[in-house]
Amino acid sequence: MTHIIAEPCVGVKDKACVDVCPVDCIYDNDDWEALFIQPEECIDCGLCIDACPVQAIFPLEEVPEKWNSWIAKNYVIFDLEAP
Ligand code: SF4
Ligand code: SF4
Repeated sequence: MTHIIAEPCVGVKDKACVDVCPVDCIYDNDDWEALFIQPEECIDCGLCIDACPVQAIFPLEEVPEKWNSWIAKNYVIFDLEAP
């Protein structure tokens, strides 16, 4: 399993989540619209959820329907096949 970053991160990208992630699996790139979580490195600790000021992060199975496309984004950006 993994956690997923969704739409609310766009335009914010303050990296508050990066500071709390114990395994450094949240990545940024100037070319990306949001930060993304490497699905195979995330240990599902959930610490990033409360750190995010705009509630952009969800456990994979709890991503709101309207942001379902963000699941694939978090996989494809790391050249991984989306679930
Ligand atoms: S759930 Fe934990 S391991 Fe996964 S991205 Fe968030 S802080 Fe990092
Ligand atoms: S804390 Fe939230 S808004 Fe900030 S970079 Fe992480 S996911 Fe984006």
